[in-house]
Formats: sequence, structure tokens, C-alpha cells
Amino acid sequence: LVSRKKQKENTIVDLKGEAIGDGQQRLIMGPCAVESYEQVTAVAKAMKARGLKLLRGGAFKPRTSPYDFQGLGLEGLQILQRVAKEQDMVVISEIVSPSDIEMAVEYIDVIQIGARNMQNFELLKAAGSVNKPVLLKRGLSATIEEFIHAAEYIVSKGNSQIMLCERGIRTYEKATRNTLDISAVPILKQETHLPVLVDVTHSTGRRDLLLPTAKAAFAIGADAVMAEVHPDPAVALSDSAQQMDIPTFNTFIDELTASGLYK
Ligand code: PEP
Ligand code: MN
Repeated sequence: LVSRKKQKENTIVDLKGEAIGDGQQRLIMGPCAVESYEQVTAVAKAMKARGLKLLRGGAFKPRTSPYDFQGLGLEGLQILQRVAKEQDMVVISEIVSPSDIEMAVEYIDVIQIGARNMQNFELLKAAGSVNKPVLLKRGLSATIEEFIHAAEYIVSKGNSQIMLCERGIRTYEKATRNTLDISAVPILKQETHLPVLVDVTHSTGRRDLLLPTAKAAFAIGADAVMAEVHPDPAVALSDSAQQMDIPTFNTFIDELTASGLYK
């Protein structure tokens, strides 16, 4: 069902007037994790000042170590919902348990399925059974074919509002956290009719590479770029090394716009 052979026209995912896949390039930004109402509000205000509405933030954080911050859970979703209302934002947040999907749709606008859960088939089926857009990330070691099959799980349950997100894959290269597979973007656009996004934060793990990879993503045809922003990355409870602070976020937008690749 997600194949270009089945449907020639691009799928457009409408996020409260902010369409993804309609030819307009979008930025999805926000903190790695929801830490407090004040923290999310600070980022939302900075985004709003630049005309951005698509706010991300993790409430359920799938961390490599069980001793790392696991997220605020339901309280995090409640914070996102409150900020979305107050600042007129569209909120995107990762859900990790199939049993939380029904509850989550009451609070957020987009369900994110993270890299670690790309082949959690029960989660994919649960997300496919609700009427809410899904942002599906490519698995850490997933082939493009496996990624497309994961999307197919969601659509096969009736939900066709899916965005695919390339977020880097595991290779032997250690200079970046993952290896951004930039050619996955045109391949996914050829093979499927779904919008394709690039997450520059988790693919590189390096703040100095966010701008060049965002330019590359738009140059190669990505519909949107995702990057993390935190009011004070030094004290962030996760991904401290690669989140942008607010002045850096503003410079990022300025330079991306000046490059002519983001309009
Ligand atoms: C995230 O976007 O918050 C995240 C954890 O990313 P990924 O699933 O791509 O590692
Ligand atoms: Mn992160």
C-alpha cells in the first residue's frame, strides 16, 4: 500500500495546516526530552518567533542505559498538550508501548515510533489502528526494505498518515553517532508515496554537523528536517552534546535560509 506503484501522487500529511509532503519544506524542532513546562515553553516561544509550529519532545525516552533519564511519561504528554494550546503548536512525541497509543492520541498530534521500535510489530499495529499521523523512524540497523515493510504494517491497519524519517544507521564509522544514509531520501521517495524526513540530530550526534546535513537533506529532496533545541543543552537530561541552544537555533535558521536550500 505504501508503494509508488500503488499510488502515484504524494501522500500529504496535514498537521493542523502545516502540511508535510506538499512541496513546502518544514522544520520539526524541540527538545530531546520534555523536562519541564518552562523548558518546553522556552523552545516553543523561540520557534514561534521564527514562524515554526512543529514541536517535538520526548515524554517516554528509550535510553540505552536503564539508569539514564527515562522521561516524564504521562506528565510529559500533559506538558506538551498545554504548551501546544498556549503557543498554538503541533506536538510530536514518541510512544513506546502499544497499550499507550489510545491514551496518547488524547494529548499529542503525531505519534512518533522511534528507531529502537521500528520492528515492534505490536506497536506498529496499534499505531495503525488510530486516526493520528505517525512519524516512523528508521531502525538502527534496518535496511530500506525493512523500513518500508514497517510502514506497511501501519497502513495495513488503516492508518495511511505516515511520515518516514531517516535518522542514521549503524556502520563502522565512529566520527558520527550514526551514519546518515542520505541516499535513503530519494530511494524512499521513489519507492513510496510517503513524505520523507531527515533527523540531523540523532544521525550525526554532533552539533557542528546539523547545518551541513540539514542543507544536504533539503538539497536531496527531504520534505522536512528534524533537529533538537534546548534552552540550556549543558544541563539537558539527554543528548546534551548535540542539542542547539536558542541563539544557535536562530543562527541555524538564518544560515539554512541564506543557503537558498530552505525556503
Ligand atoms: C528521538 O527522536 O527522540 C529519538 C530517540 O530518536 P531515535 O529513535 O531516532 O533514536
Ligand atoms: Mn535526542
